Amino acid sequence: MLSILSSWRAELQATHYKMAGETGSQSTNAAGCLTVDISALSRNYDALARKAYPSRVAAVVKADAYGLGANRVARKLYQRGCKKIFVAQLMEACDLRPALPPDAEIYILNGLQPGSERHCAAEALVPVINSIEQWKNWKSLAIELGRRLPAVVQFDTGMSRLGIAPDERRLLAEELTQGSRHIDILYLMSHLASADDEYSAQNDNQRAAFARIKSEFPGYGFSLANSAGVFLGEDYCETLARPGIALYGGSPLTMNNLMEPVVQLDVAVIQVRVVPGGTKVGYGGVHITTAETRLATIAAGYADGIPRSLSGRGAAYYQGTRLPIVGRVSMDSTIVDVSALPVGALQLGSLVEVIGPNQTIEDVARDAATISYEILTGLGHRFCRVYR
Ligand SMILES: *Cc1c(COP(=O)(O)O)cnc(C)c1O
Repeated sequence: MLSILSSWRAELQATHYKMAGETGSQSTNAAGCLTVDISALSRNYDALARKAYPSRVAAVVKADAYGLGANRVARKLYQRGCKKIFVAQLMEACDLRPALPPDAEIYILNGLQPGSERHCAAEALVPVINSIEQWKNWKSLAIELGRRLPAVVQFDTGMSRLGIAPDERRLLAEELTQGSRHIDILYLMSHLASADDEYSAQNDNQRAAFARIKSEFPGYGFSLANSAGVFLGEDYCETLARPGIALYGGSPLTMNNLMEPVVQLDVAVIQVRVVPGGTKVGYGGVHITTAETRLATIAAGYADGIPRSLSGRGAAYYQGTRLPIVGRVSMDSTIVDVSALPVGALQLGSLVEVIGPNQTIEDVARDAATISYEILTGLGHRFCRVYR
């Protein structure tokens, strides 16, 4: 395993140099390499599909597939048999449409703003209807076009974020009896607020609320679970589950992570130096060395998704050795203490691991006092990207 890893690292280092040499300034200045293991992503999809069976499993690829590249991810999962893809916004759906075959269904979680219905219908996209107003706007267009338009209807079961409120259900029921000639409802859905906490009573409350909706509106397809919801058990999977983070290797639950890691981030060293004890390091001089220290500056900072909250807290790794972040994370660079490494181990252009076998996205998120979702979606665009 170790030798596979180190030979992969050598290959990556070679690729990094090669790209830097071949393609000129853009790659020469790449902050590092973001590697997306697209086959691990596929296996995560398969694992979720097995777990949710006989429920179907869609893929949530909003926010550019949590920063990993929506087109690549959606195409790969489509080949794997995943024909139902969720994004958050109309523009995301429009960008994805040409990348996928016509039988891929693309759903827009945030629904439609007034005036965008025509665009949505023209691109053959499926809006999630979150209010009576959106329902009426979509129905009007269907009547005008003289054809049935597809939709998902979302209900608020306790998160108070999006969806038809409990006191609007009667109105919706009336609309459904008249309006279903015009709108083809593919699923009724809701979203769990606390699924990552399997002991939260909110899960049961939302499931019960959803059960009432199912009995009021029988005969449709239903969708409730996100990644964590799939692991709450079969009661939550319904007709269609909608995982996102678990596909990308994030932990669906707070406890042990059952998913395979998908992302590796290696960042280039751009300076190595030795400083005596008593030296201030980084902005504000908040870190002062206590003894002679070897430092390396790496080419990524908060603009690249290394959270500023990692100042003086997180670490990078080199061949298994922990290199603590010292001082404040800057916009384009971060300083790490490399005293634990042999002299000369790191040089200009060496790559150090920020996300990888030594440090998962969950580890980075914990150190930064955030969640893996924010780490992934924050990854910047100044890395070269390798899909393997
Ligand atoms: C983001 C989102 C998902 C996916 O959630 P994960 O926790 O990433 O699995 C599913 N459904 C809705 C409505 C969402 O907004």
